[in-house]
Amino acid sequence: MALVVQKYGGTSVANIDKIANVAKNVIRTKQEGNDVVVVLSAMAGETDRLIRLAQKAADEPDAREYDSLISTGEQVTVTLLAIMLNGLGCPAKSFLGFQVRVLTDRAFSKARILEVDTTSIRDELKKGTIVVVAGFQGVDPENNITTLGRGGSDTSAVALAAVLKADVCDIYTDVDGVYTTDPNICPKARRLDRITYDEMLEMARAGAKVLQPRSVELAKKYNVPVRIKSSFTDEGGTLVTKEGRDMEKEVLSGVTYDRDQAKITVVRVPDKPGVAARLFTPLSERNIVVDMIIQNASSDGYTDLTFTVSRKDIREATRITSEAAGAIGADKVEVDDNVAKVSIIGVGMISHSGVAAKMFQALAREGINIMMISTSEIKVSCVVEAKYTELAVTVLHDAFGLEKES
Ligand code: ADP
Ligand code: ASP
Ligand code: MG
Repeated sequence: MALVVQKYGGTSVANIDKIANVAKNVIRTKQEGNDVVVVLSAMAGETDRLIRLAQKAADEPDAREYDSLISTGEQVTVTLLAIMLNGLGCPAKSFLGFQVRVLTDRAFSKARILEVDTTSIRDELKKGTIVVVAGFQGVDPENNITTLGRGGSDTSAVALAAVLKADVCDIYTDVDGVYTTDPNICPKARRLDRITYDEMLEMARAGAKVLQPRSVELAKKYNVPVRIKSSFTDEGGTLVTKEGRDMEKEVLSGVTYDRDQAKITVVRVPDKPGVAARLFTPLSERNIVVDMIIQNASSDGYTDLTFTVSRKDIREATRITSEAAGAIGADKVEVDDNVAKVSIIGVGMISHSGVAAKMFQALAREGINIMMISTSEIKVSCVVEAKYTELAVTVLHDAFGLEKES
């Protein structure tokens, strides 16, 4: 008898028929003799719909009320599944984040889990009940509802698997595993049977939204075996674990893209000590994550500074940057949200030279202009015009021969 945590994403619970399919899968797992904890997302598109409503209600919605609102999609799916399971004679009980007590910090919309109280869940499991938990949500020390960032139900599931010491955390979604790139935009993408936490983390951070990056961080930290599976077929699957494939042989594990990017340029910044600190400190104080940064070589005592942030932060980031730019005597601030980041990822890069050059050549052959570049030991990222995203991913996948099993 094992303890299994199963998470179902938005497309897997998109309507009553799909929820019935989830119920069938959950009952089968239970009948195989396992304890089952289910974590659900909201119905596909529902969180987006709630966000649009909030944005119609106010330009900059109050952060506390915003999280209470956008967490409600999950309340619908968990209660529907519990009603359905009970109706099928299978005792089940739903829990919202605050009922479990998934305690988080106070950072609305990007809250981090501090602690999970497992008492109620364990009590229910002992009685043979199927426990259905709302993903994406928690509660802060003052009992305000918080959310964990887009895609956060993955993190809810892995956190529960970690604290409950579950045998496995199965993430059910609309693809049957982790691929060398997004199979929905590149038909030649190849499914990986296994992938290491580190590679998965890099892919997730670079935009492969099949798992939220923080869920992978947690899985790695607590050594939770995570399987990505399809809600609609028993075939396939990818195991995310400590040991991967024979990675020595492979230069790249995947290509990713991230459309959630906006570029801010501060023009003619006086080139003197302390200006970068004065620009970026106020952004970090507001929890705005700055991704790539480039600074052009100074010629006449001035320099241009360009960086990227998440599109959802663009309004606030522009306001804060404009204030700071004025204070340090820069000329102006330019914003471009018509960009995307494409990245190549692989631990094999460490021992292979010329990987970045090959990437730049592949993009150049298609006439794709590179606006920004950043490199790490196992990743090279380029910011390009948004309209080239799919083309860039496909040509990079081809250039590195990723469709072939190595
Ligand atoms: P869910 O709603 O189940 O959480 P998501 O939309 O968040 O599903 O994540 C699944 C999607 O991730 C897939 O439909 C696919 O388009 C996308 N994706 C991006 N990169 C990859 C990849 N390397 N492998 C598999 N899926 C990927
Ligand atoms: N419903 C939330 C979202 O759309 C959480 C999730 O799906 O993981 O981001
Ligand atoms: Mg997701």
